[in-house]
Amino acid sequence: MRTSVSASALCAVMTCATAPSSSELQHFAWPVACNLGTTCFIQNYVDHDPTEKTLDFRCGHRTYDGHDGTDIRLPDLDFQRKGVEVVAAASGRVAHTRDGMDDVSVKVLGKAAIAGRECGNGTVVEHGNGWSTQYCHMAKGSLRVKPGDSVRSGQALGLVGLSGNTEFPHLHFTVRHDRTVVDPFAEAAAKGECNVGRSLWQSTLDPVSNYRPTEIINAGFADRAVTMDEIETGEIKQSPPSSHSAALVAYVRAIGLQAEDEQAIELRSPQGLVIAEYRAPKLPRDQAQYFIAAGRKRVGSVWPLGTYTATFILRRNAGEIERRSFQMEIAQ
Ligand SMILES: [Zn+2]
Repeated sequence: MRTSVSASALCAVMTCATAPSSSELQHFAWPVACNLGTTCFIQNYVDHDPTEKTLDFRCGHRTYDGHDGTDIRLPDLDFQRKGVEVVAAASGRVAHTRDGMDDVSVKVLGKAAIAGRECGNGTVVEHGNGWSTQYCHMAKGSLRVKPGDSVRSGQALGLVGLSGNTEFPHLHFTVRHDRTVVDPFAEAAAKGECNVGRSLWQSTLDPVSNYRPTEIINAGFADRAVTMDEIETGEIKQSPPSSHSAALVAYVRAIGLQAEDEQAIELRSPQGLVIAEYRAPKLPRDQAQYFIAAGRKRVGSVWPLGTYTATFILRRNAGEIERRSFQMEIAQ
């Protein structure tokens, strides 16, 4: 004969965790007004590893030691300057806010300058039943809410920024239940566990299956040598090649690179001839981000007109895991 045991009866004989029941689960809207994979990317997930190692919810390493939230990154500072909204992930009441901190990379300010204010400009919203969400690194002067305000799911709270402990424009988003950090990609996954747990994202969203170990966040052409800083500021997009440019360069920046990865980029003329290529040495260690470029100086008086094609290839464990071609027109 089968007997059914209620949850409360089980609690009498087991140690009951404070994990919420299914009916108490909170679901969340995407907290940034962006399209994941095109106008924003996840740089870091919650770290599930209890030691100094790292483990994300998919058993990968797209996180760093002790990271307690999800970092949703914009492609460059140009996107931030134009303004990308941070929105309430669920309805609730604003508990805290901070504004007034400058949008400056911590590489420039130094960690001491932002000690105790690592979150930068941000807010905490309480949703009831012990659930809260925290939003960090928002743009100076962009906060549109104050403590005590009621907000609805999807309501703008402010803009993505570069305040607090950050080197690139992103929203750090932390979910808590009864003050304990919860990974919204894997609720109920215990420390050290991965590929388990429930998604707390609204069913219309699918960021869980969009998990990418590695992805390209910038790709383009320039009329001169490219630097990481100019990709990050977006300045390099202001220098597209023309028929009289002194040089023609193609570049790609990717995130989530791993030790031993092999990256290559080639640039082909409108006639299909390889005019520049670069193969980066095997990476000696994991890299949160990396860029490579290939280019050449102009030989004749003008670049031949037509469509130039660049192709980026990433090989891992002897297999090709990423290939992206992109094009540019040189017209008179
Ligand atoms: Zn973060």
